[in-house]
Amino acid sequence: MEAGLSVGGYEVDLRPVREIRKLGARRVLLQAPDGLKHVARELAARLAADGVEAYVSGGHAWGGCDVALQEARAINADAILHLGHHGFVGARVDAPPVIFVPVYYEGLLFETFEKVVRNVALKGYRRVTIGTTYQHAKYFSRLVRLAEDAGLTVAGRHLDGYLGLVVGCNYAALAEDAEAVIVVAGGVFHALGAALWTGAPTWRVDPYTGDYGPVDVKPIVARRLRDLSRAIEARSFLVAVSSKTGQRRPEIARRIRDLLAERGLRAELAVFDEVTREGLLNLGSYDAYVNTACPRLAVDDPDLFPGPVVNPGELKYVLKGSLEGYSPRDLFRFDVLAPP
Ligand code: SF4
Repeated sequence: MEAGLSVGGYEVDLRPVREIRKLGARRVLLQAPDGLKHVARELAARLAADGVEAYVSGGHAWGGCDVALQEARAINADAILHLGHHGFVGARVDAPPVIFVPVYYEGLLFETFEKVVRNVALKGYRRVTIGTTYQHAKYFSRLVRLAEDAGLTVAGRHLDGYLGLVVGCNYAALAEDAEAVIVVAGGVFHALGAALWTGAPTWRVDPYTGDYGPVDVKPIVARRLRDLSRAIEARSFLVAVSSKTGQRRPEIARRIRDLLAERGLRAELAVFDEVTREGLLNLGSYDAYVNTACPRLAVDDPDLFPGPVVNPGELKYVLKGSLEGYSPRDLFRFDVLAPP
């Protein structure tokens, strides 16, 4: 098999795919985010030509937290090829083996990034941190050079071995002491997360559309404070647990239930593959919800919950009955409620 595959502007690095030969895999499950399903289909056709039976997963693949283990077992797959994400998030899956296949996209990246670094420098910022999603991670060193050419100093760290890599729930690769943040990713999702995590002025660079500009977290924070205020008044809670490979947190959910019950509040547990409004409504009526699944549900889709929603790291405000000292970073924290 050749080293790369080009599909509509996307570059697939096929080197990891050779692993399936070493594994002797005859049947594989291909998993890809919705925007890369067409790439997965093209790769499936290549594999079929090589005599490998390839199924494309019809489900969503939200991240490295969402490995299609049940589907792979249902078809008795020898391996899972997971496209477009860098690796596991939250928890590993060992059987069947999971091979992460990089898919890169350059598009309008550099010309858009240059406009942004010029704007950021004009605003007087000097020390910046840069985040990219995995689709653009291989261009990171070139982005740093462009930022430096504009007079900026770049600070940052690795996530899982990749400089500046961000995923929707993890911004640890961004420097804590930067004056401004630049995030390279499609849409506003990752830039919003970075702004909430760092609290610093954040610009987004969209290599797919060429859109760019500062992000505004004020509506998100206002919604968080509104939901938390309502949850402080709540008497009954549903604690939602996900069954997804890297979003499963039953111990944290039980701890939350116990903490709420100790305060005389009604708290019940429910488990979902995908947390959906319909599934929540089917369970009856609750004053508030605690979401132990993907923390971004409370940021990007709070109306999915029929009542106010609280993430585990935010529960402390509900328990103490006060929003004093609220930090949006708590949206992403789970350690605060680890079992004693
Ligand atoms: S943000 Fe949500 S979907 Fe994305 S990797 Fe994290 S848990 Fe998974």
